[in-house]
Amino acid sequence: MPIKTILGLFGGVKPLTVKQGLAVLERDKYRCQYCGLDGLANFENYLVMTVDFVVPRSRGGKKTGRNLVAACRPCNVLKGRRVFKSFEEARAYVLQRREEIRKTWEERAAKLKATA
Ligand SMILES: [Zn+2]
Repeated sequence: MPIKTILGLFGGVKPLTVKQGLAVLERDKYRCQYCGLDGLANFENYLVMTVDFVVPRSRGGKKTGRNLVAACRPCNVLKGRRVFKSFEEARAYVLQRREEIRKTWEERAAKLKATA
């Protein structure tokens, strides 16, 4: 099998260069396009900013502008390699997962604080 075909099966598109990644982060003003976290508000936020392939590279997602968005690492991880019909659908999924995790966290934190 030709090497290009093999690469195609595993995504094909090369990872972003630092320059390409920075261009996306700057276009989006370092704001997570999923949850809205402001990467310019403080250094801790800045440190967790990543670039997300809306359609994952591993699923044939391209390096085109619309397929690349600034995302905080938690949102990027929650979305994972799932494929959605649109960015809006991906965003809805990520926000729903965040809310589920928040509820679990609230319950656990409240329980632990009550026993402190
Ligand atoms: Zn986020």
